[in-house]
Amino acid sequence: AVVIEGLQKSYGDFQVLKGIDLVVRQGERIVLCGPSGSGKSTLIRCINRLESASGGRIVVNGCDLMNESSRSSEVLRDVGMVFQHFNLFPHMSVLDNCILAPMSVRGLSRAQAEERAREFLRKVGIESQAHKYPSQLSGGQQQRVAIARALCMEPKIMLFDEPTSALDPEMVGEVLDVMVKLAGSGMTMLCVTHEMGFARQVAERVLFLEGGSIVEDSPPESFFNAPKSERARAFLAQIL
Ligand code: ATP
Ligand code: MG
Repeated sequence: AVVIEGLQKSYGDFQVLKGIDLVVRQGERIVLCGPSGSGKSTLIRCINRLESASGGRIVVNGCDLMNESSRSSEVLRDVGMVFQHFNLFPHMSVLDNCILAPMSVRGLSRAQAEERAREFLRKVGIESQAHKYPSQLSGGQQQRVAIARALCMEPKIMLFDEPTSALDPEMVGEVLDVMVKLAGSGMTMLCVTHEMGFARQVAERVLFLEGGSIVEDSPPESFFNAPKSERARAFLAQIL
């Protein structure tokens, strides 16, 4: 589980996150949406400590990330991340992308790491491309590799930051299919996405972030059918 209390993040005197309170329970699937610049990526990046928060608390699986202890870097092994632009290592094969962290961080042998990697690559439908380099794959295939790579660390929670928004439209479905399957397996997921079909299908809660605050936190049915805030209504009118 992830517990966030009063999370603040500023760049200089510009306050991006203005006191976020959020609990992601084990096995829960949350979709986070909101206008550009509302702080969605910043929130996700604070949970993964790619950014350091300016105030408040983030507790991941009982470990307080605001303490700069070694334990908090250990707990981040349990947090998987998928980015908009895949972020695969371009000079490594698909297989090597997937075994690097399990070997160096989890201490798996090459054989163990390869076995696990092939299993997850099979689950995302990419096993036959394991020897290729990222540049030899389509965007959709690269993003499926990125998901498999994250899963190879056996994370307890997966964070997604607009995983389909850099893809050509015909490749969005194959990535969403993998995410739906992952949701079905019981993975805890916090997904920044504007794929509202996905939100309806798998999310227990939809959060709407605006100006650095969560202004709505509702089950998908009520969020889509009767958004509480004017801003969310306008946002939905734009994207649906
Ligand atoms: P988008 O939908 O466009 O991805 P977002 O909701 O993910 O937007 P963020 O990327 O979290 O928004 O950015 C929130 C605000 O913080 C924006 O105004 C952005 O310009 C600002 N910001 C983000 N990163 C930095 C940074 N490193 N330095 C200064 N300002 C930043
Ligand atoms: Mg963003």
